[in-house]
Amino acid sequence: MSTILNSYALGAWIAPTGGLTDIASAIDGRVVARASSAGLDFGAMVRHARTVGGPALRALTFHQRADILRAIAAYLGERKDGLYALALETGATRRDNLVDIDGGIGTLFAYASRGRRELPSEHFVLDGAPEGLSKGGTFVGAHVLTPLQGVAVHVNAFNFPCWGPLEKFAPAFLAGVPVITKPATATAYVTEALVRLIVESGLLPEGALQLICGSTGDLLDHLEGQDVLAFTGSIETSEKLRNHPAVSRNAVRFVAERDSLNATVLGPDAAPGTPEFDLFLKEVVREMTAKAGQKCTAIRRVFVPRAFETAVADALKAQLSAIVVGDPRREDTRMGALVSRAQRESVREKIAEIATEAEVLCGDPACPDLPGDLAAGAFMAPVLLRCADPRAAVHAHTTEAFGPVATLMAYEDLADAAALIAKGEGSLVASLFTYDDAVAQSLVFAMAPFHGRLLILDRDCAKESTGHGSPLPGLVHGGPGRAGGGEEMGGLRGVFHYMQRTALQGSPGRLSRLTKSWIKGAPAPGTATHPFTRNYDLLEVGDTVETGSRPITLADIEHFAHFTGDTFYAHMDEEAAKANPFFPGRVAHGYLILSFAAGLFVDPAPGPLLANYGLDNLRFLKPVSPGDEIRVRLTVKQKQAARKPEYGEVRWDAEVFNQDGDTVARYELLTMSARP
Ligand code: NAP
Repeated sequence: MSTILNSYALGAWIAPTGGLTDIASAIDGRVVARASSAGLDFGAMVRHARTVGGPALRALTFHQRADILRAIAAYLGERKDGLYALALETGATRRDNLVDIDGGIGTLFAYASRGRRELPSEHFVLDGAPEGLSKGGTFVGAHVLTPLQGVAVHVNAFNFPCWGPLEKFAPAFLAGVPVITKPATATAYVTEALVRLIVESGLLPEGALQLICGSTGDLLDHLEGQDVLAFTGSIETSEKLRNHPAVSRNAVRFVAERDSLNATVLGPDAAPGTPEFDLFLKEVVREMTAKAGQKCTAIRRVFVPRAFETAVADALKAQLSAIVVGDPRREDTRMGALVSRAQRESVREKIAEIATEAEVLCGDPACPDLPGDLAAGAFMAPVLLRCADPRAAVHAHTTEAFGPVATLMAYEDLADAAALIAKGEGSLVASLFTYDDAVAQSLVFAMAPFHGRLLILDRDCAKESTGHGSPLPGLVHGGPGRAGGGEEMGGLRGVFHYMQRTALQGSPGRLSRLTKSWIKGAPAPGTATHPFTRNYDLLEVGDTVETGSRPITLADIEHFAHFTGDTFYAHMDEEAAKANPFFPGRVAHGYLILSFAAGLFVDPAPGPLLANYGLDNLRFLKPVSPGDEIRVRLTVKQKQAARKPEYGEVRWDAEVFNQDGDTVARYELLTMSARP
């Protein structure tokens, strides 16, 4: 059965008006879908995103958007079977599709959690601590992040039709920016099914997500300075998009994830017989064969000490030859097909280029041993090459055969290994297999400037490691140079890519009110009732309580020392304390100051304050000597709605003074306060 793919634009599913491209099954060449974007009004799509999607998204807080992401993830999780069935046609095995489909859903969950945990229940982010800009403290600065008011255009590669679009959609959506997503045509039928589920869920605000099946037409001509263009694919297409006149003229934010000749290195300590040697072989074979090597993070360059080259070559040949290549629907298949016969042709051409400076050790790219019923598919055996002179080689380091292909190369010493790795011109990821600290120390810091992510694998972490090829939502995904330019799209940085960071300058009071975060120097009105007796909703940022003072005696210090067991000499021995450069003589414990401060500001009766759950940014700024007096000023600094509606988190600015008005300690106290 073949299906004509529709695009989702302006709130409706739109069928193409002509110019259809056939999409063949990777397994048997049957046409499984047809696609074209003919008939789409790309300018109207951009306007729809900007004028309908954007305002709807920006009306929501980060927490509301995070909750929608979570709900979509749950909705997809219950309906993923159809996606799995379709995705087999791309040539990927069920295990491969787990990374794509469950991995994509997991990414939505991960961003939902981060949004809830690490972003405020607001429409902007206060980024970092305020900075004093004047002597008298009446002029301060702070940074805020606000969502861009344009559209995010996402152009994706064929290899991850679910994870790819979702990994880009989640941070943009969380930031509050609507998305137009364009899957690669070869696997667009899976993405179309995914977007159908998302639209059908009814969870997204109108205009938040549109889909283009087929080419992008004149879409890029409509992009402006508030828009973002995020691309995954080949270096050639990346260059075309980056240099598009509207993209460069309007300084459209552009991020690319593209070719990457990722390396793996066997340390000189990891001789045959060590756990690291076996782990290394396993990882190389896994990375070459998962998704038939069509992964941006797959291992392409295998570096081993000269002394182990033959042992590694023999072991890899044996393991790779045993890989069962075939129909991904069969249980015993270990590696499925490439995405298309055209892709296989491209991989064969790249192998031929690399083979001008390397020998093929195992795997016939023509794959002659396959049963006849698979002849129309895009199958290929894993191919391992060996380059005898890696220092002189060019293709082995820069020609990416996007299939089950890697090149084995020997290095002489660690400096040589580092220099060879750098010939990849920047990669997403590299892995190092060593149990030797000196090897790790030497190579990791030499490799780091050329990579977005480094995995150091050994017997201690192997069991729980997610492996060379798995980017994790919180970690960097992206790499310098050839890999795209080092723009970091993982985690919250990925969210902030869709936001503008702006420095605000003004008085502490003005900035406190704007950012809903109390800044020192802003009005701090005392209130008639103790703030601990008011529920979360009645507390205002800036509400302050000033306590009475309490003297600290030598008896207090001694009592505290013996009671807690902290008899450090600075509290107990006058002479020894005096000899310490920080103390005038015996001083009170920092924890005594904190404890007495709590005793000063606490309101003892049961009330809306439910729990103290921590301190942040604690500093002891001046010693407290016997005979000093301390008092506390406690101010509501920030409020943050919690996941449960019954309470909210309050961050208090706590400042402890001595009798001269000098600050002796400062910290932020975190409490949970009940809501009515
Ligand atoms: P590609 O040919 O560059 O295509 C990538 C995307 O760009 C597809 O959606 C394609 O659409 C679209 N496209 C092509 N020409 C375009 C144009 N002139 N204007 C707008 N869009 C255009 O790459 P691919 O063959 O699909 O993917 C394989 C490559 O992706 C490999 O080189 C691999 O390294 C890279 N990749 C990198 C990462 C990473 O994270 N670094 C991840 C995955 C893949 P059509 O399909 O409709 O042509």
